[in-house]
Amino acid sequence: MSEGKQSTEHQQLATQVIHGGKAPQDPEGALVAPLYQTSTFKFSHADQGSARFAGEEPGYIYSRLGNPTITQLETRVAGLEGFPAAAASATGMGAIAATTMALVRSGDHVLVSDAIYGCSFALFSELFERFGIEAEFIDMADPDQITAHLRDNTRFVFIETPANPHLKLLDIAAIKTAMGSSAAKLIVDNTFMTPLLQQPKSLGADIVIHSATKFLNGHGDVVAGIVCGDEETIADIKMTTLKDMGATMSPHDAWLILRGLKTLDVRMQRHCDNAEKVVSFLQQHERVKKIYYPGLANHPKHDLVGSQMQRAGAVIAFELHSDESGARAFLDALDMIALAVSLGDAETLIQHPASMTHSPYTPEARQAAGISDTLLRIAVGLEDANDIIADLKQALDSVASRWRDSA
Ligand code: PLP
Repeated sequence: MSEGKQSTEHQQLATQVIHGGKAPQDPEGALVAPLYQTSTFKFSHADQGSARFAGEEPGYIYSRLGNPTITQLETRVAGLEGFPAAAASATGMGAIAATTMALVRSGDHVLVSDAIYGCSFALFSELFERFGIEAEFIDMADPDQITAHLRDNTRFVFIETPANPHLKLLDIAAIKTAMGSSAAKLIVDNTFMTPLLQQPKSLGADIVIHSATKFLNGHGDVVAGIVCGDEETIADIKMTTLKDMGATMSPHDAWLILRGLKTLDVRMQRHCDNAEKVVSFLQQHERVKKIYYPGLANHPKHDLVGSQMQRAGAVIAFELHSDESGARAFLDALDMIALAVSLGDAETLIQHPASMTHSPYTPEARQAAGISDTLLRIAVGLEDANDIIADLKQALDSVASRWRDSA
């Protein structure tokens, strides 16, 4: 273990987001670790090249196999999540696909939460199905359902909490308990929370995945993923599926995420503060029919806020007293708030799950998941909360007057 790694083990997360990870040494003493923007690495002699390929000598070979900037990101995020290792990938979906391919073989079964991101749903229900992997989607709010559906060939249980798009909460520790002595691994997509607000490993998760595109990077300029786990699993993901599928991260993206991570703690607190203010505004607006936000006392499993999750996060879903065209008119009336998918950026983003993030669901699956045509998802950004609220208010008011006119 490096000296840098040892010193971070006792540091608080707010310090680790800045100092964690094995930084490559810059001969000039630059404060910020250099970006190794290179595809390949020179060997000093032929024996060194063959020794590195044979794994007999440490060192870099080619950036699809490893790169110092990417290593620094991997060690920093692994440390934040409390795991010994991590593998960075080109996208969050790349991380989920590579992890699945490392753990599962044709004929195997996986249990997946019925509330997950649309492309994760498509990956399990369509793509992996073509390769003979059976994904069973169940409601894991009742952990007994997991015990009932586990089989001998179940390789993992995959959950997202809070989950797209209704912010459904799942009790990670209770799910792990329900898995009993099963050899299946518990995989948690921690994208909505980040390790600053939720530590799945301490609750029993074997593997934690992120779309690093979101809060980890935080600036809307990267698409990336990362998976954290034990050394053996991560080595398998890196040296088989990720390396050979080629879904590896670019060094430049790793460098940008390292920069973004430094402000993760302050950003998450501001994101959450702003979200709470936006929820208070939505609650008192007559045009808002229903709000889904873990911080609300009536949200299912709200008691997990403050125990499993430090705070309620910055993603809110809500429905309007309207039909789909009214919801669309409201979206079109927004000015500062960007009509865009994604979350965790400085800018507040809003989207329409039924026709956007959850369009990979069939209409039947969408209906079963309760994704109505008027459901909207807002990812609250870092602007002044008053400006976010003012934009929501003017758009809601303008739609209201349009309805009155057309009534
Ligand atoms: N997991 C969650 C919870 C997401 O919201 C997303 C994307 O929105 C993904 C995974 C996929 O990540 P990416 O877009 O980086 O591939």
